[in-house]
Amino acid sequence: MRAGLRAASRPPRTRDADADGRSGDVVLRPAAATMAFVGVDHPHEPVAVPGVTLAPEDVLVAIELSTVCGSDVHTVQGRRPAPTPIVLGHESVGRVIAIGAAGAQAVGGTPLRVGDRVVWSVTVSCGACDRCEAGMTQKCRDLGKYGHERIAPRRELTGGFASHAQLRRGTALVRVPEALPAGVLAPASCATATAMAAIDRAAQGRALHGVRVRIHGAGLVGLSAAAIAASRGAQVEVRDPNPKRAALAERFGARASDPTAEPDIVVEACGHAVSSALTDVAVGGTVVLVGSVFPADPVPMDAESIVRRMLTVTGVHNYAAGHLADAVTFLERHGAAYPFDEVVGAVHPLTHLDAALAAAAAPDAPLRIGIAPR
Ligand SMILES: [Zn+2]
Ligand SMILES: [Zn+2]
Repeated sequence: MRAGLRAASRPPRTRDADADGRSGDVVLRPAAATMAFVGVDHPHEPVAVPGVTLAPEDVLVAIELSTVCGSDVHTVQGRRPAPTPIVLGHESVGRVIAIGAAGAQAVGGTPLRVGDRVVWSVTVSCGACDRCEAGMTQKCRDLGKYGHERIAPRRELTGGFASHAQLRRGTALVRVPEALPAGVLAPASCATATAMAAIDRAAQGRALHGVRVRIHGAGLVGLSAAAIAASRGAQVEVRDPNPKRAALAERFGARASDPTAEPDIVVEACGHAVSSALTDVAVGGTVVLVGSVFPADPVPMDAESIVRRMLTVTGVHNYAAGHLADAVTFLERHGAAYPFDEVVGAVHPLTHLDAALAAAAAPDAPLRIGIAPR
């Protein structure tokens, strides 16, 4: 990370933060801006937050760019219940502008500093319960999730569709390179990290060189999973009913495959191909279900076939801290080989959030719409 670049793009320090950026009370001039979702068919309501009180391990981040995930679109369309009012958005990149008195660490244990450019996990976990200790922090017994919680006084900066985010103890923060575009980094904290978790689960510690991987769904999770598997030497095939998306998948590492070859691994990343994933996978193969995150009709399961074919069928939801760090490392080392810099099709200002969400919901929408706070 070059010091000059960092200094050049660092936002001005808030007047009321003390010399090392650590202060419980931070006054923001201009006030932090958020857009609260108040219900289906209502425009988002702007909420100004002129000051925040940082808990000892809180990190205050000025958001550079957020992206609209499919689940945000589902919420504003009323297809996914959410408490209101809420600040949606959980894919963001930003810069640390203040840290609570006790300090905070990035994933890996290095101290965070004011000026660091970071991405952060969608989940907030306690780190101490049985699930956290088992490495399943995304299913913490005291789980919080950015972009998923009703806002309250002193708890407004909890989503990505805002100028700032107040990140709590238990958030996985990962420092990111200055050289990577914001549009490549923002989706890391949902799509890329989830894809990393899915491929990790599929690989089960094995090398993927020469392994046949089929991915259903060329949304950003499917395309990211394709690129991650391809970068590890897998033979990747992506299936999507949309011919434009299927063509795009070839640029994310997918290749035409021998139709008679059975895939060793099937990643179901769309929610509509569970039956064929279970039917088509090779004997001894692994099916990773990651796309069934919205209500859908149950799919019949042929247990005898799963037993006789010795299949592993596994579900993956969100990811753990290490996956977010691995996602950033992947984007840094291999991202340029794939068109991640084309993922964000348009960037809208935060004040035009309703138009941005409509654009994200449109047929043939780009993979992501960006939201820039200022
Ligand atoms: Zn998401
Ligand atoms: Zn926990």
